[in-house]
Amino acid sequence: MLVGDAAGLVDLYRGVGMDNAALSGRLAVKAITKAEEEGLEAAKTYENLMKKVVRKIEVNAKRQMKRLSSNNELEKNLSPLNMLKGGLHILIANQINKILPPEKLIFLP
Ligand SMILES: Cc1cc2nc3c(=O)[nH]c(=O)nc-3n(C[C@H](O)[C@H](O)[C@H](O)COP(=O)(O)OP(=O)(O)OC[C@H]3O[C@@H](n4cnc5c(N)ncnc54)[C@H](O)[C@@H]3O)c2cc1C
Repeated sequence: MLVGDAAGLVDLYRGVGMDNAALSGRLAVKAITKAEEEGLEAAKTYENLMKKVVRKIEVNAKRQMKRLSSNNELEKNLSPLNMLKGGLHILIANQINKILPPEKLIFLP
């Protein structure tokens, strides 16, 4: 089972990798424990637990391709309005994250 950077979990759209590294490490441990308890294959269990994370990286990779597809697209993406929206999102998500369990955290930015 590969976790973090070794598993290619750096999210280039968000420009971060630590959150996915921590989450995948946590889910790998969970998969091993679950597999031992229920007599399952740990790698398969890990694959299932990681589906959401992998999907998110794939979606963000497409967003990144669109963002860098032209100068206009990049400029639109980094417009003051988008920056403001992003800032508000971080502000609100940060507060919500205080009450969420580790595996349900809203990833930022
Ligand atoms: C310059 C830079 C800036 C970054 N900024 C951010 C940021 O602002 N926010 C963010 O979220 N992410 C950032 N990242 C990405 C983030 O650092 C990584 O995604 C994250 O650290 C991955 O964690 P990891 O545990 O998978 O790997 P690592 O942190 O690389 O840990 C792997 C460890 O394994 C050790 N190791 C390797 N081979 C062996 C071996 N054979 N035996 C024993 N040990 C070994 C290494 O020495 C290392 O300590 C940045 C990365 C870089 C390079």
